[in-house]
Amino acid sequence: MDVQLLEATDDPEELICSAARNDYLSSFVGDQSFAEIMDSVGGDDLEEKKETMIHRLLEHGHYGPFEHPHATFAIEGVSRSCMAQITRHRHVTFDIQSMRYVSFDEKEPEPGEAVVEIPGLSDPGLTGRNADFAEEYEGLDDEAVLENRETAYRDALEQSFESYRELLDLGVPAQDARMVLPIGTKVNIVMTLNARMLMHIGDMRAAADAQWEIREMTEDILDLAAEWAPITFEYYDEHMKDRKNRLAP
Ligand SMILES: Cc1cc2nc3c(=O)[nH]c(=O)nc-3n(C[C@H](O)[C@H](O)[C@H](O)COP(=O)(O)OP(=O)(O)OC[C@H]3O[C@@H](n4cnc5c(N)ncnc54)[C@H](O)[C@@H]3O)c2cc1C
Repeated sequence: MDVQLLEATDDPEELICSAARNDYLSSFVGDQSFAEIMDSVGGDDLEEKKETMIHRLLEHGHYGPFEHPHATFAIEGVSRSCMAQITRHRHVTFDIQSMRYVSFDEKEPEPGEAVVEIPGLSDPGLTGRNADFAEEYEGLDDEAVLENRETAYRDALEQSFESYRELLDLGVPAQDARMVLPIGTKVNIVMTLNARMLMHIGDMRAAADAQWEIREMTEDILDLAAEWAPITFEYYDEHMKDRKNRLAP
């Protein structure tokens, strides 16, 4: 997985402050410099004044101004399963790599290549919430269990990619042949969202029990957001952890 910031509003926190000051000023923000707009806000310089303003907005849950700055992220190599989860968020604009126009026939069905690698697959500690070993696997040592897991995963991938190629060879269009590809098949995403939505996605998708892949993606996005809008996302990380690190709904 690779997450990059493609494009973002310049000086997002100046924009947040200008929008918020608009609510409380009798004069028009469009006619004033940023220093004038921020004149009555506490702080020795503009950076401190921005901090005062943004902290106050976040403390009071005044989130509207955070909807003005936007950021666009490019995400490489997440599963279609992760894509299905993130695209549930309705205030985000997405572009998703097409399986109609991009053919997967030259990609290898290897974990880590065309399909995501399950990080814990080779960890004996990885078991589902209600997992019980089936009778045939009871009594196997850790090594044998891990080998069986790896084999089951690789066999499924090979079988599905083999069928995909066969369907293409038989003249079936890529948009139909893709039906046999696994949900772990990798996809690239471009997504644009505002700073408020970034925090909301952080709340839900970086939650302690969110699925590992979307949690990893969200943490990478939040790290980039902290470089883009440092006052906002450092405050979010330090003071709103109870939202971020709770259990997902
Ligand atoms: C751990 C986890 C497990 C999940 N499991 C499932 C599952 O099994 N099945 C499933 O279908 N989904 C599941 N979801 C998805 C979840 O139910 C939401 O659909 C998804 O996270 C989008 O978030 P959101 O509802 O906050 O909406 P967003 O689209 O992110 O919107 C942000 C906010 O805007 C407001 N809003 C947006 N649209 C409306 C509207 N039409 N009416 C009223 N308010 C609105 C709400 O306040 C909402 O919180 C899961 C999510 C998580 C994090």
